[in-house]
Amino acid sequence: MSASPSEVHAALAAVTAASRLCSAAQGRLAAGDTLTKSDDSPVTVADFAAQAVVCAELGDALGDVVMIGEEDADDLRADTANELLAGVTELVRGQRGGASHADVLDWIATGTSADRAASSGRYWTLDPIDGTKGFLRGDQYAVALGLIDDGEVILGVLGCPNLPNPDGSRGAIFTAVEGSCEAFYGASPDPVDIAVVAPAAVAEAKFCESVESGHSDQSQSQQIAQLLGITSEPFRIDSQCKYGAVARGDASIYLRLPTRADYREKIWDHAAGKFVVEQAGGRVTDVTGAPLDFAHGACLETNSGVVATSGEIHDDVIAAVRQVLGV
Ligand code: AMP
Ligand code: MG
Repeated sequence: MSASPSEVHAALAAVTAASRLCSAAQGRLAAGDTLTKSDDSPVTVADFAAQAVVCAELGDALGDVVMIGEEDADDLRADTANELLAGVTELVRGQRGGASHADVLDWIATGTSADRAASSGRYWTLDPIDGTKGFLRGDQYAVALGLIDDGEVILGVLGCPNLPNPDGSRGAIFTAVEGSCEAFYGASPDPVDIAVVAPAAVAEAKFCESVESGHSDQSQSQQIAQLLGITSEPFRIDSQCKYGAVARGDASIYLRLPTRADYREKIWDHAAGKFVVEQAGGRVTDVTGAPLDFAHGACLETNSGVVATSGEIHDDVIAAVRQVLGV
């Protein structure tokens, strides 16, 4: 199954609107606009607002939407003073004038409409702000929307509102459908074709990884680089912008190495980005070289970590990863 033209169109419109919202909000949040979730990760009014806008846009275009999204409307409902909800609604109104508090809660709740253990059928997965820590630091983040059908990713749209582009503009939206990957740069209405760039030799490869050392083991990545003869410094960047960087040749390796044996990667952190890299000609697996398996609901239950590359170097990179990690 592939994504329909109306799904592609709706996904692009939704990510574009949410990216605009996030750009307008970044750097303008007040102290009370951020909440710490039960897993200790931060969430801001912009995360909730971006999820509301994506769900509203998809709903307008496609009718009922089934989604495994990152944010939960109950976290907002728990704020009985409604201060957060007021901030979220204000941001949503910048894109959708007239939105009420009830509209906003309903749209956000669409993001948890799918069975979180779903292993079949068609559903969207959304990280409204991937890399919230980067967003709060004023750095990179992404609006990541994927469409999954029976465990296969069939559409990926990745909004990277703060990403500097080769043409000097800022802000990219990567769109991957079966057989093609394109990006819109800055305010340009015309997409450019995106393709990975193979290094002349694996030792020439540039690799990227998380800024946050708690999300990926940076000392092991250093050992892997050494084993491969890579001498250039790692390129550290938050969010699925790393997948965009590999897809367009800014880097040719993305290493995400487990910091804990029991951590399971979330599908919304990888669905869109993995598809973007693959449709740009690259390869994406876990640290053992196994394909990422999206047929287990909200988490990549059978995978450990992620390795994305420009393609032909993949087996060499996996061999080094396995040696260093002992997997
Ligand atoms: P990044 O910006 O690439 O560092 O990734 C941000 C994402 O890391 C967030 O969306 C979280 O879902 C995810 N995350 C949180 N804790 C961990 C962890 N221990 N290992 C891997 N990813 C994590
Ligand atoms: Mg995320």
